Amino acid sequence: MTTPMPAIFFGHGNPMNALQSNAWTNAWSAIGNGITKPKAIVCVSAHWYLPATLVSAQERPRTIHDFGGFPRELFEVKYPAPGDPELANHVRDLLAPVSVGLDTRWGLDHGTWSVLCHVFPEADVPVIQLSIDDTQPAEFHYEIAKRLSSLRDEGVLIMGSGNLVHNLHAYAWGRQQVEPLDWAVRFEERARELLLSGAHDPLIAYETLGRDATLSIPTPDHYLPLLYVIAQKREGEPVSFPVEGFDGGSVSMLSVQIG
Ligand code: ZN
Repeated sequence: MTTPMPAIFFGHGNPMNALQSNAWTNAWSAIGNGITKPKAIVCVSAHWYLPATLVSAQERPRTIHDFGGFPRELFEVKYPAPGDPELANHVRDLLAPVSVGLDTRWGLDHGTWSVLCHVFPEADVPVIQLSIDDTQPAEFHYEIAKRLSSLRDEGVLIMGSGNLVHNLHAYAWGRQQVEPLDWAVRFEERARELLLSGAHDPLIAYETLGRDATLSIPTPDHYLPLLYVIAQKREGEPVSFPVEGFDGGSVSMLSVQIG
């Protein structure tokens, strides 16, 4: 029996990380060097959040620059990883009876490529994305994610890309070196304790965790990818935080690795 691939949630933060070399991007590179190279990646990105469950099924997914107000060089970044239509079909079958659409219009958004360009800079691992159905509650996402578990035994990396704490109203634009806000630190600390103890129910019912949670998760899009990753945890598997820190005071760059 081979060791299952880990499942990893990445806090992606500012898209400019794609062009930079900093403590976070260096840690992302170290993750890529430290794990067995996957046969393929299924990524759940905060930025593919719409009222449907879709899986990207192109042979050659395009690099999507789904943001505005950044320098031209960021719009010129390409991450030419191949797609994997066969894997997309497999994911659709695994998620049944949930209706999953095979999509050929999306591609790789910056939640995926701004991280993977550091983790696997050669862009030689096929990547597909799974959308987040914004009409569904958190339990739905946690439950359907469990159906993907067997992929880990087939050498597939299940990846989430979002941010555990993501409040852009409080974000200190252009001043990355600010101290993290107290509620952000408290919520991240609480979440870490729950993650380490395997207490997933409160993390799924995050809206019951009080004001710190409400401020940290003003909208669910950047949080829900975490649930796809923690749903992969098997009995006795370790949980670790290979990347840490806050950007702009209100965006947690924490990565969470299962296995
Ligand atoms: Zn984002």
